[in-house]
Amino acid sequence: MNCFECAGRGETRPSVAVCTTCGAGACLDCVRPTTRDIRHAVGFSSAELAITTTRELHCTPCHSAISAHQGALADLGG
Ligand SMILES: [Zn+2]
Ligand SMILES: [Zn+2]
Repeated sequence: MNCFECAGRGETRPSVAVCTTCGAGACLDCVRPTTRDIRHAVGFSSAELAITTTRELHCTPCHSAISAHQGALADLGG
């Protein structure tokens, strides 16, 4: 698979990642790695929660959209 963003500019670059939002291939220049914290129960009791940080890879436009969305949420106070 080739980078979707670069293909739109008429360039052919091999993708190193797949956007988790839109599924487009992204090359090293176009991929935007982010992290997401996932809370999950540990042990036999669900009272105890652990947080695991996972990785999410987005293409450039999806990252921009998500950043704007999270910025808007932050402006609303959460
Ligand atoms: Zn995307
Ligand atoms: Zn690219």
